[in-house]
Amino acid sequence: MTSLQHYLETRKKLKAYEYVMWLMSWDAETEAPKKSIEYRSKQLEVMAGEIYAIQSNETYVNAIETLFKELDTLEHDLQIEIKKEHRELRFIKKIPKDEYIAYQVLMSKSVHVWAEAKHKNEFSLFVPTLKEVLLYQRNLVKYLEEEHLKGYDLLLDMYEEGFTQKEYDFFFDTLKKELVDFVKEVTKHPKPLHPKLVTGTFDKEKQKAFSEYLLDVFYYDRERGLLKTSEHPFTSGVTSVDTRITTRYLEDNLASSIFSTIHEMGHGLYEIQNDPKYDDTYLHGGTSLGIHESQSRMYENMIGRSKAFWTVHYQKLQLIFSPQLDEVTLEDFMDYMNHSARTLIRVEADELTYALHIMVRYDIEKKLIAGDIEVEDLPQLWNDTYEAYLGIRPNTNTEGVLQDIHWSYGSFGYFPTYALGSAYGAQIYDAMSQAIDIEKAILENNIKVINDWTKEHIHKFAQTKTPKEIMMIATQKPFDPMHYVNYLKGKYNK
Ligand SMILES: [Zn+2]
Repeated sequence: MTSLQHYLETRKKLKAYEYVMWLMSWDAETEAPKKSIEYRSKQLEVMAGEIYAIQSNETYVNAIETLFKELDTLEHDLQIEIKKEHRELRFIKKIPKDEYIAYQVLMSKSVHVWAEAKHKNEFSLFVPTLKEVLLYQRNLVKYLEEEHLKGYDLLLDMYEEGFTQKEYDFFFDTLKKELVDFVKEVTKHPKPLHPKLVTGTFDKEKQKAFSEYLLDVFYYDRERGLLKTSEHPFTSGVTSVDTRITTRYLEDNLASSIFSTIHEMGHGLYEIQNDPKYDDTYLHGGTSLGIHESQSRMYENMIGRSKAFWTVHYQKLQLIFSPQLDEVTLEDFMDYMNHSARTLIRVEADELTYALHIMVRYDIEKKLIAGDIEVEDLPQLWNDTYEAYLGIRPNTNTEGVLQDIHWSYGSFGYFPTYALGSAYGAQIYDAMSQAIDIEKAILENNIKVINDWTKEHIHKFAQTKTPKEIMMIATQKPFDPMHYVNYLKGKYNK
């Protein structure tokens, strides 16, 4: 068998294993009965071991090495795929196997430890585990370091290729300069919101009916995807014909399900609109977390929270919730879902203050990976940084340093992509508005025009372009955070 044949054969097998693994975790997150956790973990462990064995098999690794040396002989897309897979080999080749396995075991427990510490508001319970996670991450950096990619940069680049501290420092410095005082000013005198929206109880079945309606409004293809519920909303896809999303229905918060559904649809559309020729390859999916988030945020905030959108769809919401919303006007509803306040919890933060929450995490991660601070320093530093950027201070660690799950599973370098995604989204939206009349499309209830544009300029490329290349294709310019700053200032100055 040639190296190419071997690669393609093995890829086919891996894809099948990965699909089964994916189904298991989708099921676990959505419908699996609670008591199946332990049974499923055992099966997952076996499957993960099988996949690792196939991936690290010498013949397979050699096939990738050989193809990497003969890149010129391959067709264009396959060249990109092999380069990508060759880079992935660093995890297998440079990290000692026993450390890697020990870390997997740690990962299977650390999230639970974090959840308990958060629940009990006791940071000290999480300290030993977080120290272990951090130690692994610091070692990982040492194992994988390259001439041009060291320290925290290496982790950042893992989530957003080509983005290191140099790019992020510039980005966050711009936001700091432009937004910190602006946010304090905007949130100083909050406008009173309609009591029926703030204190009402919203029937979950009715919320579900509206989310199902939204699927059709956004042309989310029900034959390639579906909507379920989960504790935290997410999107999960493996091919352009199977991309699933979740939302959650909270009785005391009408906005939550609406905007979670639209947000996840933004992610889902990206993968459904990938060129199907990538379905069986390792090029399917979004090119980076930041570009992925640009799509979800653009659909959620710039389209989903616009006046044009609700001019068309507010009546439908009123109808579903009649007579509850009969007295609530469109203006009341607009004020409600676009109001801004400085709060402590990132996932509940509004569009304007969101990036400040990310700035806090970026500052702290930088110091943590560099070894300038240790795990014990986190609560104090967390609270001080919140005070500096948002002017508020958490009273407990549950609503402070323990609020996010990310560090418990070792995702250092992930947070910054959330803010970057919003900023990419603003620049992409500006470029799209040069090409098509977005407001007209929304007013005519024809979001397909928008989907066609995002497909043509972003989605269809799957992972064949880097984030920087996508920004050039979609906007003809390198990334510039001022689109985001101007968008936020324009919106909240009103
Ligand atoms: Zn998202």
